[in-house]
Amino acid sequence: MISTVNNHNSTSWSNFGNFLDAGKGSHYNGISELKRYMQRFGYLRIFENRSNDEFNDQFEASVARYQRKLGLTVTGKLDSETIAQMAVPRCGVSDTSRPTKVHAIQHYNYFNGKPRWSRAMPTTLAYAFAPNYVVSNLKLSDIKLIFRRAFSRWSAVIPVNFTETEDYGFSDIKIGFYIGDHDDGEPFDGVLGVLAHGFSPESGKLHLDAAETWAVDFDLEKSTVAIDLESVATHEIGHVLGLAHSFVKESVMYPSLKPRQKKTELKVDDIEGIQQLYGSNPNFNIKALSQSDTSSSNHAADSKIEIGLSRWTIVAMILIVCLTIKA
Ligand SMILES: [Zn+2]
Ligand SMILES: [Zn+2]
Repeated sequence: MISTVNNHNSTSWSNFGNFLDAGKGSHYNGISELKRYMQRFGYLRIFENRSNDEFNDQFEASVARYQRKLGLTVTGKLDSETIAQMAVPRCGVSDTSRPTKVHAIQHYNYFNGKPRWSRAMPTTLAYAFAPNYVVSNLKLSDIKLIFRRAFSRWSAVIPVNFTETEDYGFSDIKIGFYIGDHDDGEPFDGVLGVLAHGFSPESGKLHLDAAETWAVDFDLEKSTVAIDLESVATHEIGHVLGLAHSFVKESVMYPSLKPRQKKTELKVDDIEGIQQLYGSNPNFNIKALSQSDTSSSNHAADSKIEIGLSRWTIVAMILIVCLTIKA
């Protein structure tokens, strides 16, 4: 992963390997870059002196916070597991979210203030593609097909429909591919690093880094740095609807995605999170979930139990999935 990033001379995250096994109490040339990473994604407070190359208490605490959230071994040191995770491309949205209770299990999160599209349900949101902000290696028809599929995954579980419109100015959700600084204070950074970002409701902005090698089919796109468009689209739509990052590794709302990795199916965690905001699509049932999630077996295939009835239903389902995977 790290060497892949180096080959493409992209973000400075590729140099994080130089700090392998760094720990508190010393100066490391250039570690301020890593502090910038921690600050950008919500692990280090803004007033921390970022140009300082000292591995100090605050930085150690931020490394531990990062490890805890991402489900790594908590050492407070820049061990190989942590460095490798930091080099994985990810969403540009910060990992800060509404504080959860101590000892609470890791699950879906919301943005501060828990914003959602404040309309009576059921509703329809219109989306449009920014004219002139597409990528040359993909056909517009393919991009549209991918987004139609990504939107349909969310509309299958909540009472929100999505419809494409040509009227960009009046669309609720505005999708575009942008290079570098594109006037929203969140510049993109070239190949890998940050892949995309989606703004919380009711902004509707969904931006993808045009510098990525976006793929609709890995059989056709052989690049080692290819990024699956559908996986990222599904994730960013989650933000546009009001979900922040989840730290359940399998969830669509987990912040990072490796090149050539595909993660398009909503998991129980994503579904419970979004249904807390919008309620359930009356047509959604457990059968629909088991059909789309090949890992969750046929245990519940014949049952018509509505998901989201109670937390215990979810806990039971997670257990079934875990047992199935182990078996
Ligand atoms: Zn994200
Ligand atoms: Zn943007």
